[in-house]
Amino acid sequence: MKIDPELSEELSRLEKEGLYRRARVIEEQSLSHRIKIEGREFLLFCSNNYLGLTHHPRVREAAKEAIERFGTGSGASPLISGTYRLHRELEEEIAAFKGVEAALLFPSGYAANTGIIPSLVGKGDLVLLDKLNHASLIDGAKLSGAGFRVYPHREVEALEEILLKERGYGRRLIVTDGVFSMDGDIAPLPEIAKLAERYDCLLMVDDAHATGVIGQGGRGTASHFGLEDKIDIQMGTLSKALAGAGGFAAGSKTLIEYLRNKARSYIYSTALPLGTAASALAALRIIREQPDIIERLWENTNYFRQQLTGAGLNSGKSETPIIPLILGEVQATLKAAARLYQDGILVLPIRPPSVPRGKSRLRLTLMATHSKEDIDLVMGSLVSHKMGRLGNTRVPD
Ligand SMILES: *Cc1c(COP(=O)(O)O)cnc(C)c1O
Repeated sequence: MKIDPELSEELSRLEKEGLYRRARVIEEQSLSHRIKIEGREFLLFCSNNYLGLTHHPRVREAAKEAIERFGTGSGASPLISGTYRLHRELEEEIAAFKGVEAALLFPSGYAANTGIIPSLVGKGDLVLLDKLNHASLIDGAKLSGAGFRVYPHREVEALEEILLKERGYGRRLIVTDGVFSMDGDIAPLPEIAKLAERYDCLLMVDDAHATGVIGQGGRGTASHFGLEDKIDIQMGTLSKALAGAGGFAAGSKTLIEYLRNKARSYIYSTALPLGTAASALAALRIIREQPDIIERLWENTNYFRQQLTGAGLNSGKSETPIIPLILGEVQATLKAAARLYQDGILVLPIRPPSVPRGKSRLRLTLMATHSKEDIDLVMGSLVSHKMGRLGNTRVPD
């Protein structure tokens, strides 16, 4: 094609900077934390499948049964003929789980964020975002046409300064990740909620990595801080701890009905496949009935963190199962990931633009299904390669 030479040029530039991306192809996965690539088995330490529920017999059975009853796809967008009883049940159970009136499903977490934000704000409004918010939140803000301002990561004083200065807007919406996806730290939600109240702003929290992980019984960031009634919009995903795909918004009945009528990514995209809705529903029920599965995730997280500290390695400011080993430069990070790979451990190097320049890292994630031996294996590999000294492991700003 005519444009190919131009595209190739950009791809070579990425390659030169170590930023070219390739997807690893997984051939088989019989357990939640083990995969097969090119015939070789790897221990998985970079999945967001925190509770390992993708392979839970009840979750698999629910998906199979739904496919038998309804077929695979939902066949249409939710407002045409794509809404099934199963979707409604899932929405109701998400709302109950979150302790709010109602919830709305989206095809993905990305679609939720790019649907919710432009429904609530537009020209003449202002969105305030944490510097490390997920890309889908930034894209949602851009798509909305509202003005947007970014405050330094978790710096509440800076947020307040912006709020004091930026007046004369219609609505103002503060948006933050609950658990930050690349650093594993938690948003200072009590302080942010206070500002939202004082300055009359809407407040939205993205709980992609908090759902099933933090808060009472995995109910997320609002629950973690006991702020359920202070958050206007709780967004979450079914794609991480809930073992499938899809996103949701949870909040007041009015908010949800409004989104149902306004959110373009809800209205103009096919409803979740039925197997996916069923598996998420089963996963959610397992979490509610057996919250000890979350305890296992935390036992593993705490054990790994202890080992890291014992070995003199630095896991930054992480407070969750997301453990970043910040190595700084791209090449050091690629090398570190390659060494783990040689040892049969899959951990992906995280590079710009997913993280700021100079903050490339290995992002390790713990799962409830890892054993102590699995964790010891990773530690052994990190230590034997003197991973902390490969680059300049340091605390992120
Ligand atoms: C993964 C993620 C999303 C997107 O969710 P998908 O279901 O994968 O589309 C949104 N926000 C955050 C913080 C995420 O980590």
